[in-house]
Amino acid sequence: MKIQAVRGMQDLLPRQKEIYRHIEDTLRDVLAAYGYREIGLPLIEFTNLFSRLVGENTDIVEKEMYTFDDRNGDSLTLRPEGTVGCARLAQENGLIFNQVQRFWYAGPMFRYERPQKGRYRQFEQIGVECFGMADADIDAELLLMSRRMWQALGIDGKIHLELNSLGNAASRSAYRQALVTYLRGVQAELDGDSQRRLETNPLRILDSKVEQTQALLADAPLLTDFLDHESSVHFDHLRRVLDRKQQPYRVNPRIVRGLDYYSKTVFEWITDSLGAQGTVCGGGRYDSLVEQLGGRSVPGLGFAIGIDRLAMMLDDNFESTAYADVYIASVGNAARDCALMLAEDIRDEMVECRVVVHCSEGKLKRQMKKADASDARVALIIGENEVSRNEVTVKLLATGEQRSVEITQVPDYLRQVLTS
Ligand code: ATP
Ligand code: MG
Repeated sequence: MKIQAVRGMQDLLPRQKEIYRHIEDTLRDVLAAYGYREIGLPLIEFTNLFSRLVGENTDIVEKEMYTFDDRNGDSLTLRPEGTVGCARLAQENGLIFNQVQRFWYAGPMFRYERPQKGRYRQFEQIGVECFGMADADIDAELLLMSRRMWQALGIDGKIHLELNSLGNAASRSAYRQALVTYLRGVQAELDGDSQRRLETNPLRILDSKVEQTQALLADAPLLTDFLDHESSVHFDHLRRVLDRKQQPYRVNPRIVRGLDYYSKTVFEWITDSLGAQGTVCGGGRYDSLVEQLGGRSVPGLGFAIGIDRLAMMLDDNFESTAYADVYIASVGNAARDCALMLAEDIRDEMVECRVVVHCSEGKLKRQMKKADASDARVALIIGENEVSRNEVTVKLLATGEQRSVEITQVPDYLRQVLTS
């Protein structure tokens, strides 16, 4: 039997992982600039947390969860998303009532989906969740912060914002009725999934990726026409701030998000450069989520960024950094010992210097090829002669320039050449 990775579970090779790391470091700095604090969420929660709060009739709960019984017979699920876990954490640790919180987290999520470019069964998200703020200024802050993230990554020109307001529960339910009435008229022409959703989660049909269904929706009633007064004032406030900060957006009444807990503001950041999997960030407001957890009512909102999709956007222009500054080659047993000791001495004296020792036998020529391939700036060469004279041959790999340096002087010498 061939050993291979589970379908949809990606291996990340060093260059890819470097891009992911770069994204996380960049976003972390932006989050810090807004006072967001990192939390760590378990990868596994009780299944009913998701089924109840993400919603029984959502794609995630209906067909995408990795669910299993543990040895106790408890039903557990690998987290498909972070919002409800974060709300649970905040509530369980007493971080929610009469408080304002801004949290973020990063890590893998798991969904049993059809794997394709930009869609995996294990994927990475950075998520942001805020609690205790009801007004639209925080909705605006979230969007301005995400814009700053795209700027920091250099992709703000390739990504645009689509916004909608879902209103409150009453206006959504009035709209749902109008939508169902309209769709019943064209029911036979809907795709199978949408026909099923007509009974279970009709709003989700707006989000269908089937073209014929999208065409049928052209004349459907618009959620925007059903908005309650408070939601519409909230939405206007948000739009005014965005206008003032010159953040363009498109109001798209079809944006509903795939999860049940949203109300009022919902949004997606979308790129045209990734084909069908173009949404790189989605989020919105979820003012009734905490109450559904069994707590008092606390407003909340947040978004999640798909790191795999961002990494695909950055891939073409990303320059990997060298993983070594200094490469040490040696010939002969005494020289090999000496190489290992010297490497430790350099690391003691120059904490940030990255030293790679050629830890196996080999012809000097092959070792020097490895040194070149490592992109190190300096090679140190130690042979029998060098050992007997307590010296090292230092070679600057860019120019080929070579000289002998007394072994105890090597760190000082490296400091000079590496900082010049
Ligand atoms: P989609 O409509 O693409 O299925 P979604 O509405 O299910 O997205 P969310 O649950 O809002 O997505 O997740 C937020 C972001 O996480 C998405 O915008 C996307 O960038 C990323 N994402 C979601 N599912 C996957 C996946 N299976 N593989 C890679 N990235 C994903
Ligand atoms: Mg999905």
